[in-house]
Amino acid sequence: MVQTVLLLNNTYQPLRLIALPRALTLLFSGKAEVVETRPGRAIATVNRALPRPSVIVLKRYVHVPQRHATWSRRGVLMRDHYTCQYCGARMSHRDATVDHVVPQWLCRETGQPASTWTNTVASCRACQARKGGRAIHEAGMHFFDPNFEPKIPRTSYLVLTSEILPEWRQYIQV
Ligand SMILES: [Zn+2]
Repeated sequence: MVQTVLLLNNTYQPLRLIALPRALTLLFSGKAEVVETRPGRAIATVNRALPRPSVIVLKRYVHVPQRHATWSRRGVLMRDHYTCQYCGARMSHRDATVDHVVPQWLCRETGQPASTWTNTVASCRACQARKGGRAIHEAGMHFFDPNFEPKIPRTSYLVLTSEILPEWRQYIQV
């Protein structure tokens, strides 16, 4: 299993996941500090056993250029907390589907990308069927949360592609 560590900027915003050896290099060179350790795990060094880092923070701020996270079905479902954005129903991981707010055929016709973070929402099968490939207003539907607007910091999406360890949660707003 690949051992990954959550790297935070010095503002405590998540930057990315890095491999354990890379994390140790940052720690031993004094560029980062341990924030959270993995319970029950240790690393043997020459002198002693060290707790295994799980979250580390950079001592200096690094500027990260804007970069778009790759869209993923799972990322959309996690962002929406497996809650149907049309009726508010909680869904099991098996029943959750992703709906294109502007239907895919219409996006194709107008040359717009369909599978984007802003054009996709978690949807239950019933709402998906009711909407039936129409735009939301044509189907006479509306968002469960009228203020809905996907605007989670992009760094969260980068991290969402991996399994999230319990001690990471407080640093990642999903
Ligand atoms: Zn629904």
